[in-house]
Amino acid sequence: MEIIRKILGKKYIQEYILRNYRSELRKKALHPRLVQWIATYKCNFKCDHCGTGAGDPLPDELNTKQIIAAIDSLAKIGTYFFSVTGGEPILRDDIFEVLKHAKSKGIAIGLVSNGYATQDYIEKLKDVNCLSLA
Ligand code: SF4
Repeated sequence: MEIIRKILGKKYIQEYILRNYRSELRKKALHPRLVQWIATYKCNFKCDHCGTGAGDPLPDELNTKQIIAAIDSLAKIGTYFFSVTGGEPILRDDIFEVLKHAKSKGIAIGLVSNGYATQDYIEKLKDVNCLSLA
């Protein structure tokens, strides 16, 4: 290695290592396997301890078409778990449509809820692979 370094120079060696390292990263195709989506900042509570500062929805939250397109992209690159949180995701009218779509793409689904309306949605919640009530 020392003789090569003397002949080619230190800079060449560094570039060679960097080039090969980048190539290795590309081969490993680093993609998100688990994705958590803050579906909305809207929440029916305003807890003092809230880590996300939930309460009112943001003006630029993804609409149904946008999140469905994002899920399609995630499915293509191998995401296998998609979880929604908030705010309170159940306050979105489309949340079960979105979760159903993810599941139809072969992605396991999770839901984090404050639990205020779990009784109302008990049938739909049976499809959720990982339910967290907090
Ligand atoms: S219920 Fe959860 S998301 Fe809503 S304000 Fe309280 S801690 Fe935040």
